[in-house]
Amino acid sequence: MFRLKGGNQLLPDTFARLLGERVRKNCKVTTLTHDAGGVAVTFTEGPDKKEQTLKGDYAVMCVSPLMIAGIQVTPGWPEAKKFALEHTPMGMQSRIVLQAKTRFWEGDTLPSINLETGNSTMGLVYECAGEVPGESCVLMGSGPPVLSAEDALAAFRKFYPGHNKDSIERAIVHEWWKEEPLAFGCERHAFALGKLARIWPHLIQPVGRVHFAGAAYDNLPWGQDAATRSARRVALAIDGV
Ligand SMILES: Cc1cc2nc3c(=O)[nH]c(=O)nc-3n(C[C@H](O)[C@H](O)[C@H](O)COP(=O)(O)OP(=O)(O)OC[C@H]3O[C@@H](n4cnc5c(N)ncnc54)[C@H](O)[C@@H]3O)c2cc1C
Repeated sequence: MFRLKGGNQLLPDTFARLLGERVRKNCKVTTLTHDAGGVAVTFTEGPDKKEQTLKGDYAVMCVSPLMIAGIQVTPGWPEAKKFALEHTPMGMQSRIVLQAKTRFWEGDTLPSINLETGNSTMGLVYECAGEVPGESCVLMGSGPPVLSAEDALAAFRKFYPGHNKDSIERAIVHEWWKEEPLAFGCERHAFALGKLARIWPHLIQPVGRVHFAGAAYDNLPWGQDAATRSARRVALAIDGV
């Protein structure tokens, strides 16, 4: 697994620093108006939630379909786009972190601790930061959006197929959507049988000067791959105009 020294958050933070005042963080968009000549978004900023408007040539909605419904759009979406946005299934997950004193699975019957578990409480487990020196280690996993650390640890102990006693000393569950209520919906799930023809390609198509990027707006299954590729598609589309 590859990652940036200092954490992957460095990447968006560096983009934001280089873009300077053009990046406004923690602003909730409440309305979007668009016509053949341009777009305008209304948003609230700061602790007093002061309402402001920003005009532009294009808008790129990098917002999960689950959250787009909360933005008032004028004129409203065409019928095909509306159907696609309202029927695109989005998943939610929590991040599970298990801190262990030793690589207790080594020397056990397992070829690796990187497992698809078949357990609905902790669907995946894999070692992270293995290059960090020292005996202790970190295992990561994914769970349902609402999960306690105790239940995550109990699930691990239930599905762990080895015989060695684990040396886990701490379990943490990060229910990220509680801290960032607008970041709701993470990866797109498969479309229900019979729905694809009504959703595709309307989901990814622009509406006039409004484009769509993010994990939902691509046909790759993994969230970050889909989000990155859709952003490139939109950047090329706008740049090519
Ligand atoms: C626990 C967990 C594990 C994951 N593991 C993987 C993995 O292994 N591989 C992988 O590829 N993906 C993984 N993902 C998924 C991946 O993180 C997401 O698919 C990806 O980050 C989505 O990017 P995005 O830009 O589409 O949406 P987000 O990163 O959710 O960005 C949308 C943004 O829109 C903002 N927003 C919403 N409404 C408004 C509004 N009205 N006004 C202003 N802003 C608004 C939100 O605050 C948010 O910042 C995982 C996700 C989770 C939670």
